[in-house]
Amino acid sequence: MKYSNIPINKKYDYIIGGAGLSGLTLALKLYESGLLEKHTLLLIDPSDKSENDRTWSFWNKKLPKLTYLPIKNSWDNALIKSNSHNRTEDLLPYTYYNIEGIDYYNYVKNKLKDVANIEWLKDTIIEDEPHKKEVFTSSASIAYTHYFFKSHFFSDELSTLLSDKDKSDFFLWQHFLGYKIRFKEDRFKPNQFTYMDMTIPQQQGGLSFMYVLPFSENTALVEYTLFSNKLLERTAYEEMLLSYIKTEFGDDYEIEAEEYNKIPMSTKIKIDRINNVIPIGTLGGVVKASTGYSFLRNLKHATHIVNQLKRGTDNFKYPISKRHQFYDKVLINVIASQKSEGLAVFNALYKNDLKLLFKFLDEETTIWEDLKIMRSVPTWPFIKGVWASLLD
Ligand SMILES: Cc1cc2nc3c(=O)[nH]c(=O)nc-3n(C[C@H](O)[C@H](O)[C@H](O)COP(=O)(O)OP(=O)(O)OC[C@H]3O[C@@H](n4cnc5c(N)ncnc54)[C@H](O)[C@@H]3O)c2cc1C
Repeated sequence: MKYSNIPINKKYDYIIGGAGLSGLTLALKLYESGLLEKHTLLLIDPSDKSENDRTWSFWNKKLPKLTYLPIKNSWDNALIKSNSHNRTEDLLPYTYYNIEGIDYYNYVKNKLKDVANIEWLKDTIIEDEPHKKEVFTSSASIAYTHYFFKSHFFSDELSTLLSDKDKSDFFLWQHFLGYKIRFKEDRFKPNQFTYMDMTIPQQQGGLSFMYVLPFSENTALVEYTLFSNKLLERTAYEEMLLSYIKTEFGDDYEIEAEEYNKIPMSTKIKIDRINNVIPIGTLGGVVKASTGYSFLRNLKHATHIVNQLKRGTDNFKYPISKRHQFYDKVLINVIASQKSEGLAVFNALYKNDLKLLFKFLDEETTIWEDLKIMRSVPTWPFIKGVWASLLD
C-alpha cells in the first residue's frame, strides 16, 4: 500500500476515517462491489496497521462463504464451566473461528494495493465539517463529494455519549488480559475451546471468566475477561491469569504474546449520521453491546452500505433488532447495577444449549425462543433489569 501526498483541491468521492476493522472491511466491500471502478476513495489512519493489535473470535454457521478469510483456527466443540455445571457441546452447524488482526489487515491491504482509485493517507483526523463536506487532518484539509464514513473517535467522545445514569447502570467495560502460551508438552485438545469458565473467583459487581483457545496440542490463548464498570490494576489481571494457567495446565510454558485491552459495552455507544458523515464500526452502533463482538457485524454493515450505494438509496444505519437491543440493555443492567446477581444470571443463561444462545446473540431467535431463554434465568434480578431498562 502506497501513501499519498494529497494535492491541493483534490476531492474524493468517499473518505473513510480510520482503517481499522470497519474501515478496512468497508473499503474491501466497496472494491469487491465494483463501485471503485468509477469512484475514488481515500483512507486516513495514523497507523499503518502493521501490528497484531488484537485477535478476533466469532461464531458462524459452517458456510463455505467465509473460507476466503485468513482464518487461523476453528473449533467445533466448546467447554462451558461454572460452579453448577460443566459440559462440552458440539457446535455444529456452528463453528467458532479465530483470526489474527494482522492477518486480516494484511489480507485487505494486499487485495487493495493495486486498485487505482484508492489512496491512503497516514495522518490523524482532527475534525470534520459536515456542511462543507471537508475533513481536516494534522496536515491537510480534504474535500469529498459523496460520503465520509467515520470510524475513528476521540477518547473523550465515549463519555459524552453516556449520561451519569448510563455510566453506572447501563455501561460496562469488557476488560481483559490474555497470554499466548507455548508448553513443552501437549496440554490442549485442538478441536475443543473453552468458551467460558466461570469457576474463577468473581469480583464484586461484575462477571469474570476465562476462555481458552488452543491453536495446537501445546499452544493456546488463555484470556482473563471481566464485564464490570471498574477496571483493575494490571497486576490483578496477571495474578489471576498466571494462577489459572498453573492450576489448569501447569507452569512449564513460555509466554509468546499478550492481549491487554478494554472494549466499551453499552447500547448507547453510537452517533447519528450528520448530513453525509456516516458512522461505521463502534460509532455506528455495530458492536454487540452485551458481548463486545463485532467482526461479522462489521462485515454485515459494510455489505449493507454497499448495497444501499449500488441501489442509489442512503439508509446506511446498521440494521438493529430493537427487541434484541432491549435484551442487551437488560443484561448489561443486571451486571452493572446488581452487585452479585450478574453471575447467577449468566450461569443460568449458559445452561441453555450454546447453539440457541448463538442464535439469540445473532439476533435471529423467535420470540418463543427468547421466552424459553428468559424462563431459564433467575426471575427477580431479570425483572429488576427489565424494569430499570423500561424506565431509562
Ligand atoms: C484486544 C481486542 C480484542 C478483541 N476481540 C474481539 C473478538 O474476539 N471478537 C470480536 O468480534 N471483536 C473483538 N474486539 C472488538 C473489535 O476489535 C472492535 O469492535 C472493532 O475493532 C471495532 O471496529 P472499528 O473500526 O470501530 O474500530 P478499530 O478497529 O479500533 O479501528 C479504528 C481505527 O481508527 C484509527 N484512528 C484512531 N484515531 C484516528 C484519527 N484521529 N484519525 C484517523 N484514524 C484514527 C485507529 O488507528 C484504528 O485503525 C476486540 C477488540 C480488542 C481491542
